[in-house]
Amino acid sequence: MNTKAKQVVIAGVFILLVVVVVCGGYANSVFTPDLPRPSFEPVTDSAAAAPDFASGTWINSEPLTLKSLQGRVVLIEFWTFACYNCRNTLPFVKRWHEQYADKGLTIVGVHSPELPEERNLDNVRREVASLGLRYAIVTDNDYKTWEAYKVSAWPTIFVLDKTGHVRWRHVGEGAYDECEQQIKALLAADSTQSGAAKQSTKKDEKTEMNDKITKSEDEWRKELTPAQYHVLREAGTEQAFTGAYWDNHEKGVYHCAACGLPLFSSDTKFDSGTGWPSFYQPITAANVIEVTDNTLGMERTEVRCRRCGSHLGHVFADGPRPTGLRYCMNSVSLKLEKQ
Ligand SMILES: [Zn+2]
Repeated sequence: MNTKAKQVVIAGVFILLVVVVVCGGYANSVFTPDLPRPSFEPVTDSAAAAPDFASGTWINSEPLTLKSLQGRVVLIEFWTFACYNCRNTLPFVKRWHEQYADKGLTIVGVHSPELPEERNLDNVRREVASLGLRYAIVTDNDYKTWEAYKVSAWPTIFVLDKTGHVRWRHVGEGAYDECEQQIKALLAADSTQSGAAKQSTKKDEKTEMNDKITKSEDEWRKELTPAQYHVLREAGTEQAFTGAYWDNHEKGVYHCAACGLPLFSSDTKFDSGTGWPSFYQPITAANVIEVTDNTLGMERTEVRCRRCGSHLGHVFADGPRPTGLRYCMNSVSLKLEKQ
């Protein structure tokens, strides 16, 4: 190779290097601004008690506190609706809610905005509904919760054990299998193993764990009327405009007719014109399970009681504000306790 050829090769390599460095930097600055490399770590410091949620607007749930969630595993995701990386994690978070809510997992999405339009509550509510998020969401417009958890990027997931201590932390997309393993391990763990577990919480945890009601179908058949049994245990549907509650306007709390768990408040009931009692949100997302129902040749979301697994009705995305959801229930699945 003569000297000129060598110079050409060296110049070529140099240009190639410049292109790689510049493009890499460009891609980094355009697609992942300020986002650190994904990282995850089990947190072993038993003293790492999680900070409580700062005040914000709650969607899909009554306001929750970590104290009220003692005995449950809690997954907290810091997200914001326009964040591409957050949106990629949501299908996994939704699946965990669907799969583990009735096994003791509560998911709270802390919505800490990045862009000005993400601070608008109507926008957040619209996105929560259109993304099909049914777990509890709390707004964090002043970043109080974000700062308390020392978060620096979207999305960041924390998993807390049954005593409210941080056991897992992950920044960015990915590590879904590891996160799910962590959830399962914490759900299975005896909560008293935590160094910080207090005597006083033991009773609550037991209540929570034994809270699920399982009865044989024979037992249910004896306890329920034939109409109740057909809807609650065989996922039947009462005829429209025939039930006790479709046109009821009394104040109170609607409980599961099979096990008595409080499910809906009359404050969230609205006239849907369907002939079935309709609500725009459950009393707390933790009291219902939502499962995909492919019967009758269409995909719908079935709603069941979290405690006894009985069928209540379906939920549709054509409801009124503020959630945009319509929980279409069977009167026969409910029992109103008047206020
Ligand atoms: Zn029930």
